[in-house]
Amino acid sequence: MKKSTQILIGITMMAVIVTGVLITNTTLIKGQIFGNPRTAIEQNKRTQTSSSDKIKTDKKAPMVINDISVPSNLSSNYPLTNLTYKPPVITLDSILKEQIPQSWIDQFNKDFSVSALPVAGLTTEEEEEVINIIYRAIYTVSRIDSYFKKPLPWTNGKSYYEWLKESIKGIALDDSSGSLGTYDYIHIKGGTYLDNIKKGLADQWYNKQMGKGFFDSFIALITHEARHNNGINHTTCPNPKCQPGEVCKNDFDLQEMGAFGVDVIFLHWIKYMLPESITQDAMQDFDNFQYKGNSYLDSICTYDENTGTFGEEDNKWLKNISGYSYGIQ
Ligand SMILES: [Zn+2]
Repeated sequence: MKKSTQILIGITMMAVIVTGVLITNTTLIKGQIFGNPRTAIEQNKRTQTSSSDKIKTDKKAPMVINDISVPSNLSSNYPLTNLTYKPPVITLDSILKEQIPQSWIDQFNKDFSVSALPVAGLTTEEEEEVINIIYRAIYTVSRIDSYFKKPLPWTNGKSYYEWLKESIKGIALDDSSGSLGTYDYIHIKGGTYLDNIKKGLADQWYNKQMGKGFFDSFIALITHEARHNNGINHTTCPNPKCQPGEVCKNDFDLQEMGAFGVDVIFLHWIKYMLPESITQDAMQDFDNFQYKGNSYLDSICTYDENTGTFGEEDNKWLKNISGYSYGIQ
């Protein structure tokens, strides 16, 4: 081999080695700049995954179009019933937990005024607490009212709210409960309200342990005093609760729909004129405590404790207006 040829081979081999070193270095530099090669590989994998996701997404698009174009005869395979709106089931107790719409409160404050007299002896916070429960009581009746099969019979076909609005100017928290018997403020013993709120009677329609609840504590009292404002006063009659010589306040009969009578009739309406889905929670022991044995019965002169019902005339009248006689059918 010529010396010149040997030199040429030598140069060529060196060129190959130098090129190899340069390529290796470039890789290292690349690794140093973009992070370690493992990261680079993972990055690459992620890029691939994301592009395959993109492909999947792209594949999904026509599927949506296919869903839309499902022939109507196949649409029954879809769970359409799940999509049908079902209004929530309301119960007497669930209404007590509802947030009262501010618009309702604003309207109430235009229609009625509620305030505490100094003799009520309530602090500002206590007064606010009692007033909130008065809102709650009247709001609750308004909610129930729209579900009654027939309007409450003493309201002349109007809603309870409208009747109340026409009967009372407002509610004054006082040191005793009462009414002047004409369109004016009704007076409610604020301290009693507060006691009942503290006992938890505002939380449940019916409190089994105490044998009373929201109706007895708040709704019945407001309704009772408001009914006096319709010009219906009490009468006296022999009453098992009366001691000899004592003058007891009573209603002459059920038909006059007096201040006690409306509370008895209200419960009759709750029992027979509302869907059972609404009364389900209150119906637990309702018959024994809140309906059959409610404390207002004794205050109706025609009520006979022994038979557990009213006189014949009252029974006929009640069946006529409601479709149901008094008592457990
Ligand atoms: Zn009274």
